[in-house]
Amino acid sequence: MTPDTSIYLHIPFCVHRCAYCDFNTYAGQESLIPAYVDALIREIDFIATTRPSDHATIQTIFFGGGTPSLLSGPQLASIMDALRAAFAFRGAPDLEATIEANPGTTSPDFLQQIRAAGINRLSFGVQSANPFELHMLERTHDFFDVIQSVKWARQAGFHNLNLDLIYGLPEQTLASWQTTLKRIVDLHPEHISAYALTLEHGTPFGHWSQRGLLPLPDPDLAADMYEWAEEYLESNGYIHYEISNWARKNSEFRIQNSEFECRHNLQYWHSLPYLGLGAGAHGYANGYRYSNALRIKTYIERLAQSERGTQVHTYTGTQGDGIRNTQYPFPLTPVIVNHHRQTERDDMDEYMLNNLRLLIEGVSEEDFKSRFGRELMEVYPKEIEDLLRLNLLERIPIQNSENGMRNTQQAIRLTPSARLISNQVFMRFVD
Ligand code: SF4
Repeated sequence: MTPDTSIYLHIPFCVHRCAYCDFNTYAGQESLIPAYVDALIREIDFIATTRPSDHATIQTIFFGGGTPSLLSGPQLASIMDALRAAFAFRGAPDLEATIEANPGTTSPDFLQQIRAAGINRLSFGVQSANPFELHMLERTHDFFDVIQSVKWARQAGFHNLNLDLIYGLPEQTLASWQTTLKRIVDLHPEHISAYALTLEHGTPFGHWSQRGLLPLPDPDLAADMYEWAEEYLESNGYIHYEISNWARKNSEFRIQNSEFECRHNLQYWHSLPYLGLGAGAHGYANGYRYSNALRIKTYIERLAQSERGTQVHTYTGTQGDGIRNTQYPFPLTPVIVNHHRQTERDDMDEYMLNNLRLLIEGVSEEDFKSRFGRELMEVYPKEIEDLLRLNLLERIPIQNSENGMRNTQQAIRLTPSARLISNQVFMRFVD
């Protein structure tokens, strides 16, 4: 049986383009927001006509960006309505619906409107509590905005908040990172994400760094920051369940699990299906990985043409698809610019890369076999043996959930010493 599907909606608008960001997002294009919302609803309607019955129920929704909080409450509610008309939602409290928001771009009215529309999780892009670091990142908010946004979110009825952080910034000290983490924990979020700064090619940060104008983050100091975060967050009641993510345990605001792991991202890490909607969105469903047109105007125009019938509702498949000149096979749509039919080996390799990010669960031998019909050790004998010998992977028994006894099933997962060099482990599973 196909597991329930997740939906990612990309909102590619920002007030200002931050110097380190390489996401598909655009500043100064806010006048296109109404047409973009219409196009998103058209894409949802299109998918509704092609989706098979085993993709009828969705369990998580994620508005990412960009800055989704630049849309108005009624615009977001109209997208939620379109999703409700096109899919069955898992009943409350099982549906997780998240929106990313920048502190300083929300108001009490807006938060109440989106909560009433069914959005029940907020993810604020905080990045730092230090004014100099926020200025360097070209963020448009200060920490007062963060405190106020969290307060308003609680008043609007949000009991599941994530705060995003970045560490390893140029000129950042360990003391400054410690202060940021302490101020974040004081706000009692249910979830914290902390990612190391990466200097992306094509961004001002990447350019300045190449020209020697930006003091490079010291990798040893960044490692100290990561390890300090692990200890501090654990001692404050957070479970480190994924390489860069922590979930609070034993909360009075319990939604489903004892922890507030991000269920939408767990869908990715478990290699389960999700539909990507919006400009530049990526998706994985029905054996395809695909991505949509990047530019906002192209995305809007393609959906408008499709609606007017000037673009025929047929799809010419590439060789190897086995599909030519036919109706768009689910999940493909007129806005898709790249798609790839997954081989079983693609799926197995990606399953390893994704699931190994989960620090507690790791990769279960039983799950692997039930999904692919083959033993894990038969597919990756040398890779796993080498990594076990290097103490980068460890074998753990899996607790039998029915009687509390340990059974013979096992999982493999990263060792603590592998967390900072996880990419080296992942590379072993890529052909
Ligand atoms: S607000 Fe976020 S998405 Fe927008 S430019 Fe800055 S980092 Fe990128």
